[in-house]
Amino acid sequence: MAGRLDGKVAVVTGGCSGIGLATVRRFVEEGARVVIGDISDEQGAAVVAELGRVAGGHEQAVATYVHVDVTSKDEVDALFKTAKDTYGSVDIAFNNAGISPPDDDSILDTELDAWRRVQEVNLTSVYLCCKAALPYMLEQKRGSIINTASFVAVMGAATSQISYSASKGGVLSMTRELGVQFAREGVRVNALCPGPVNTPLLKELFAKDVERAARRLVHVPMGRFGEPEEMANAVLFLASDESSFMTASTFLVDGGISGAYVTPL
Ligand code: NAD
Repeated sequence: MAGRLDGKVAVVTGGCSGIGLATVRRFVEEGARVVIGDISDEQGAAVVAELGRVAGGHEQAVATYVHVDVTSKDEVDALFKTAKDTYGSVDIAFNNAGISPPDDDSILDTELDAWRRVQEVNLTSVYLCCKAALPYMLEQKRGSIINTASFVAVMGAATSQISYSASKGGVLSMTRELGVQFAREGVRVNALCPGPVNTPLLKELFAKDVERAARRLVHVPMGRFGEPEEMANAVLFLASDESSFMTASTFLVDGGISGAYVTPL
């Protein structure tokens, strides 16, 4: 059976965990070859080994891992070059790596170094990845870029993570602008805006504190956190030609949270 991404080459940052990992697996299932950029080398090797087994019989590995700190221009450029050199094109860029560290909190308590680190990893990285991917896509006259923003790009929280929220607002604005600029050149740029998703990033925040989790869950009309696989399906849609009339969009996959005034509970 034909895969929805047959013949496509994808780059996924933050592909060793959570939303990125689920997406890498989904992309490979649908026939893509994937280059993973992350700083988690052990996990990267394990993912490539796992996918090698899934796709057994291929002469060429379907997935490649590259150690990349997404805040480094040289390393990001090398990541996209690896995709082109190894698999022949850059059709999909899922710019997804991000952090949510505890020292990014209320503006009253967040110091400049914490602010800057989050801006670098969450926002500057997306600028670097788009800048690296676009020349390949413009030359091919086709490409789909998906940048991971967040529901916090469209709504505020009283329990602030000030740099994180600002970084995701930046990702959303940048995505919209790029989508408009390159719409007539065959390159689509969309923002994935997940609601709260059950990943290591979120678990670390709430695992120790059931009350904190409950305080957030009450705002989600569906009454639960999302799963990484539910994000992967959305990314697959944006990456594939099925979303061919979509660009510059704010693609909310959030269990209804951004639409809620009064919730069922
Ligand atoms: P995660 O922590 O499970 O995975 C993040 C991955 O990024 C990890 O593999 C990590 O090693 C990698 N990474 C971190 N810093 C990096 C760097 N400097 N260079 C390269 N790789 C780096 O997180 P997740 O929950 O899957 O989040 C993925 C994206 O989704 C992030 O951008 C996050 O902000 C966003 N998001 C998450 C949620 C949620 O509830 N989990 C909600 C909205 C948006």
